Amino acid sequence: MPTAAIVWKEGDSFSLEEIYLDELRSDEVRVHLVATGVCHTDLSAANGSTPFPLPGVLGHEGAGIVEAVGTSVTRTKVGDRVLLSFTSCGRCAGCRNGHPALCDSHLILNLFGGRRADGTTTLRHSSGELNAHFFGQSSFSETAVVDERSIVVLPSDTTNDELIIFAPLGCGFQTGAGAVLNVLRPEPGSTIAVTGAGAVGLAAAMAARMTPASRVIVIDRVQSRLELAKQLGASDVIDTSDNDLTSSLLDITDGRGVDYVVETTGNVGVLEASVLSLAVGGTCALIGAPRAGSTAAFDVNRMLPGRVIRGITLGDSEPQTFIPVLIDAYRRGLFPIDRLERVYPFADINAAAADAAAGVTIKPVLVF
Ligand SMILES: [Zn+2]
Ligand SMILES: [Zn+2]
Repeated sequence: MPTAAIVWKEGDSFSLEEIYLDELRSDEVRVHLVATGVCHTDLSAANGSTPFPLPGVLGHEGAGIVEAVGTSVTRTKVGDRVLLSFTSCGRCAGCRNGHPALCDSHLILNLFGGRRADGTTTLRHSSGELNAHFFGQSSFSETAVVDERSIVVLPSDTTNDELIIFAPLGCGFQTGAGAVLNVLRPEPGSTIAVTGAGAVGLAAAMAARMTPASRVIVIDRVQSRLELAKQLGASDVIDTSDNDLTSSLLDITDGRGVDYVVETTGNVGVLEASVLSLAVGGTCALIGAPRAGSTAAFDVNRMLPGRVIRGITLGDSEPQTFIPVLIDAYRRGLFPIDRLERVYPFADINAAAADAAAGVTIKPVLVF
């Protein structure tokens, strides 16, 4: 029996226990996990600030090797090295148009449901059913039953070490990089600011360095993270523990404001300050998720000269296409995600989660 990290109720720590996998459906794949990233959405689902039914198994940045495939699976075969990303229905307008992160069924299939679309569960404990199917994978488990649509097959020359490094591409790094490369696409000479130097924010900053933007400004309250942002290519950094966000951005841009902001903190005050920092025609990408039900305020008239607030989920990525692009950038030294990662044994999941929550580790990766 495989071991999984179960959260029994809101606010509990992860409990490593044996689980039972359900039979594979025709469109599912059984994956032996090699590694999985830990994302803030896992922690917020475990503590109840992101709705997810408990008890359950979280985890949505898996990397592993295919053990078995359902009868209709064509995307992958036994023995493939794969990353696990998010799932989608494959039938709605968003899915058909190459935007699976805009799937009509996104929330129910990836988050709130905890079940397959037909209401059945993929995992059980000896005491009863568990909620799982988190992002179509629930990767905090030695073995996972995964939706075929969550699978990204890796290049055949992918090494074991790379499999571990690549795991968080399935969510966090794809989310930050995709916002910049898929959606904002900064023009030559434009300015882009990133609020929050966590995994998503630093991925956005590294992606911005691949564009013709002239300034990449990273904002945080932790000096060591701002140092790292500089090493990764930020042209400017702002420490908001002793500087005002909006006035600093206006200073850097000679009073014009920035053309783009990527807001990753999920802090409503930072979002409002980001919108106030936009140049005419500028766009604020809203990525960080505050507690469910949060609202923000902005000056309506100030938005009229072309200013935009744009919500983005998972970088609006089509993972089969976009993750290989990021892997190529990593191999060429343009997207050094390993600089953000720290590896922990799977058994140390609670230490990894605590380090992520405290900001000690930017991106924990659990190795099985
Ligand atoms: Zn995530
Ligand atoms: Zn869909």
